[in-house]
Formats: sequence, C-alpha cells, structure tokens
Amino acid sequence: MADPTEEQLNPADVYARELTAFAEALHVLHVDRGSPSYRAISAAAETAGRVPLSSSAISEAFSGKRLPSLDFTLELVRQLVGHDHEVREQWREKWKRVKLCQRQSVVRRKQSKPQHDTGHSTQRDLPDSGNEALTTARLEAERIVQAAQAEAESIIESARIRADELTAAATQMLLDATERGTIPVAEQLRLREHSRIVLVGPPGSGKGTQAPFLSKLLEVPLIHVAELYRSNVAGRTAVGKKVYDYMNRGELVPDEVTLEMLADRLHAPDTQHGFILDGLPRNLSQAVGVDDLLASTSESIEAALNFDISRDESFKRVIGRRVCKNDSSHRAHVTYATPQKYGRCDVCGGPLYTREDDSRHVIAKRWEVWKYQTEPVVQKYGAEGRLVTVSGIGTVSGVTERALTALNAYFG
Ligand SMILES: [Zn+2]
Repeated sequence: MADPTEEQLNPADVYARELTAFAEALHVLHVDRGSPSYRAISAAAETAGRVPLSSSAISEAFSGKRLPSLDFTLELVRQLVGHDHEVREQWREKWKRVKLCQRQSVVRRKQSKPQHDTGHSTQRDLPDSGNEALTTARLEAERIVQAAQAEAESIIESARIRADELTAAATQMLLDATERGTIPVAEQLRLREHSRIVLVGPPGSGKGTQAPFLSKLLEVPLIHVAELYRSNVAGRTAVGKKVYDYMNRGELVPDEVTLEMLADRLHAPDTQHGFILDGLPRNLSQAVGVDDLLASTSESIEAALNFDISRDESFKRVIGRRVCKNDSSHRAHVTYATPQKYGRCDVCGGPLYTREDDSRHVIAKRWEVWKYQTEPVVQKYGAEGRLVTVSGIGTVSGVTERALTALNAYFG
C-alpha cells in the first residue's frame, strides 16, 4: 500500500493494524448500517467460517493474552449486524476495549524497539492532533489494560476459591484430628476481644491456603473479596447488581462499590470479634478506603499478615502445580507432591496437566501486578507498625503455627 512504513512492520503489527482498521469500519458500521464498509464487512463475514464466542475467548482477547483471530472478529461482526440494538451496543463497547488493547501492544512494541530508527517513525510523521489522539488512546489503553488485568486477576481468584474450598475440607479434617484448642497459641489469641487481620502475601505465598486455617483457629470469619463478589451477584443484592453491570460491560468494579460490599459484610454479627480479610486491599487507594471504612465505626485493621516468599519460590510453587484431567480435585506437584508415575495421577491414573492460570506468563503477570500495586500496601502497613511478616516456606501446618506465634508475639 501507499504507507511507506508498511514493509517495516512485523506480521503482528500488520495484524494489529488490520484489526484497528476493522474496528474503525465497525464504528462506521454502527453509525451507518447502509455504508459501503458495512457491505464489505458483511461480505467478508459471509465467507469466513463461524467460530463460537466463548466467554473465555472473549476474556482472553480483552486481557490481551491472545490476539483475537479474524474469524473471531468476524463473528463479532455478525452479532453486530444483527437486529438487536442492545446486543450491538454491548459489543461496540466491548470491541472498543479490544481495539485499544491492540493499539497498546503496538505502541509497546514500537517503544521497545532500539532507537536506530529509520526516520519513518509514524509518530513523528503525525500532525500534532494525531499525536494528541495517540496520547489519549495510550492513556485510555493503559486504563483498560489495568482493568483487564484486574479482570484476569478476579478470574484467577475464582479458581483459587475453588482450591480454597478443597483446602477448607482438608482443614476441617485436620482440625478434627488435632482437636480444637490443642494449639495453645491459638487459644491465647482467641482470648482477645477482637482480631481484625488482613492477609497481604504475594501470589503463590500460600495465603489462600492459610486463610481458612487461621479463620477456624481464631474463630473469626474469613472474608474473601472474590467470594463477596460472587455471593452478592448470585444473591442479586443491590450492590451485587452494580457489580454485575460493571463486569458485564467488561469494566473494572470501582473501589467504592467493592468497599460498599465489604461494609455490608462487616455489618453481619459474626464479625463482632474480628475477621480475616483476603483479596483486599490490592492497592494503596483500597488500603486507605478500608481504613476509612473501619474508622467510621471506630475500628481498624490491627495486623497485616504477610507470608514472605521469594519470586523464585513462588514461580516454582505455581508452575509446578499439576491437575488431573479426570478430576480437578486430584492434584500433584512436580517438586512438593511428585506423582508416583511421571505425568500420571496418583488417585486415578489419569493424565496430569498444567492449568492456564498456573502458566509462567500468568504467574509473571500476577507477580508484576502484586509488585507494583500491592507491595506498596505492605510497605504502608509496615510504616504504620501494623505488619507481621512470617516466612511462607515449610509445611502448611508449620506455616500456620509460625503465623499464630508471630501474631501472638505482636499482640503481646
Ligand atoms: Zn485423577
């Protein structure tokens, strides 16, 4: 084509550009269904094979994990040219996000290229208004990428909840076996009037595993934020409806809505002696929000419990996880629970695999989000003298005892 930079772009760039053009065409399509672009797109849609638009494929496209295929895109077009105005409107909103994610990745690639540039730089050739538009698009894209990251996080969290449920069952068995109250430190801690504790460990630190143990031993409820989302949406509460609307539009649930859910939960009588809070705060503004919320009833987070674990160890733990194809409750770990027979489930002999959530790039992303957004929260609690850090290394019960001992020492 006439564009001189065209040959210098790699296939991914060309693809992203095509998608951007496609999105522009979609926009035209939306405002004017009778335009030639509509007919051209419609013709292309006719000839392409149909693909199912599964919610996971959509979410992968939005989170930037995977470029949507052309067929996928065309299927979106089919839905867009349908007669349901509401569906068209929804897709238009969603598509904007895909488009901006694409742009963002193009911009990132361009920025990461070394500076021996050709002088054909697209950015330089743009008139001022073009540069402005690019900056706006970039800022908007950054916001959306963050929202998409949070969405991916919440998907991962729901998977963690499933794991937590399994752990809770195991916890009960362990508690029955050891008999409640045999751990004297826990007994000591239960004498306190209240224990309001937040868990802040990095991904893979085992805080999700520890949470139900601590909750049971301290006899305070476990409040997991992803579970709050789930129960409010499922229960169709007023705030749950808001959450559903945001999620449905592919938007990040605003902090004030999350805090509203937390406030509702804290009104329940079972929190009178405290709680274990998991999954919140994830960033500094949420930490301030939680503090303000509790301060409104003259309460506060008394301790932030941090399970210290190195990045290396975290990766080793998460990436080593294996799940049985036959039954997801059959678990193994290449280092910590090595299967008897390589690649085979000890329980039923089924093939073991690595879940997408446990892949290297997902854990790398989660770690990065934690490092830049959540670690400052840990530092804040530290600066305020509310941080209790214990090593997250060792057996589950070993870490539980270590945590209880540290809390007991901290509370004095
Ligand atoms: Zn199995």
